[in-house]
Amino acid sequence: MRLAARANSVSGSKTSGTRNKAEALRAQGVEIVNFAAGELDFAPPGEMVRALHAAADADTHRYTDTAGLPALREALAERITQLSGVPYAAQEVVVTTGAKHGLHLAALALLDPGDQALVPNPGWGTFAAQIRIAGGEPVPVETSDTGFVPDVDRLEALRTPRTRLLVLNTPNNPTGSVCPPEQLARIAAWAVAHRIWIVFDECYGELVLPGAAHAHPAALVPEARDLTVGIGSFSKSFAVTGWRAGHVHGPRALIDTVKNLQSHTASNVTSVVQHALLPAARGELDGFPEQVRQVLARRHRLVGEALTTIDHIRPATTPQGAFYYFLDVRDVLGRKLGGEPVPDTDTLTGVLMEQARVALTPGTAFGAEGFVRLSYAIAEDRIVAGLASLREVMTGVE
Ligand code: GLU
Repeated sequence: MRLAARANSVSGSKTSGTRNKAEALRAQGVEIVNFAAGELDFAPPGEMVRALHAAADADTHRYTDTAGLPALREALAERITQLSGVPYAAQEVVVTTGAKHGLHLAALALLDPGDQALVPNPGWGTFAAQIRIAGGEPVPVETSDTGFVPDVDRLEALRTPRTRLLVLNTPNNPTGSVCPPEQLARIAAWAVAHRIWIVFDECYGELVLPGAAHAHPAALVPEARDLTVGIGSFSKSFAVTGWRAGHVHGPRALIDTVKNLQSHTASNVTSVVQHALLPAARGELDGFPEQVRQVLARRHRLVGEALTTIDHIRPATTPQGAFYYFLDVRDVLGRKLGGEPVPDTDTLTGVLMEQARVALTPGTAFGAEGFVRLSYAIAEDRIVAGLASLREVMTGVE
């Protein structure tokens, strides 16, 4: 079948794919520990679920304003202002179908064919895919030797007259690294000096471990405000990944363009979901992310300790946010595991699914062969069971 070059330029999301595969096995009755799902195992706050029911019972089933319910945009603008320390007005915020669609619309709004976009590597594969769909060219910025945070000299070495934007994702998926404010300030100043947009994905911004600080580029370098597109989400911090509720903030002209694009591609985010988001957007449920942070800090410790007892696997870095450990598995590649040859990371995750009954996301989903991502957003007893099984299977490396 002849398909458009644009469609052929990307393959399906490996983060979604690995998660789907693990869930499909579980549905068939296979006992599997799913370290692949990039989502919390928590139930969302009861108030949000009740607000969803109330919205469904009320007369809220028709289209909303394309950019979102006015009350929701208002509440989000206040929340973003409060969390970032940078003032944003309601007209500078759009509610999108998850952060993913917000990122997609931002790429469509900013990139002309042939424009280059700097993307951290390792990084979430969807960034590069969306840049290609928009006709742009993703340019990887290796970060594995710079603490998994982009280095300004390297950005400068990669800059060309076609460089249009830089993706920054902090806390980072898949490494859990957090860009320290002084480094973020240097990056923002560089972007301002060269008029390069910053696509600032802060979906995990509320999930930072004690000792690390999350900051907004425009709070550190005020001139960056005109060049920053902020991408946020309720999915990760309020445990509602399936609701597909994200938002984009930025300068008015860009936001109006995102709104225009959304008017042709989604109309609006599901009306009842928008109503149900109001209490969280108004900050009435902030106890929930606080509780999530405490639980994640415990799970982070638990995984970190257990990993020291597993052969052939070691953390590539100590994560400071999100809920991922990025693990270096290069020691296993080219060897055999339980008699099975393991030439590469994709094979390894398949073999581990078979032998250890654990699902891990291969680093190739993030441009990093030789690494796997472990999500510790699952219950402690599952973590303990999964890591015990992994420890056992790893003794079979020959
Ligand atoms: N951001 C989540 C992850 O990295 C979900 C991704 C997706 O559905 O592609 O696992």
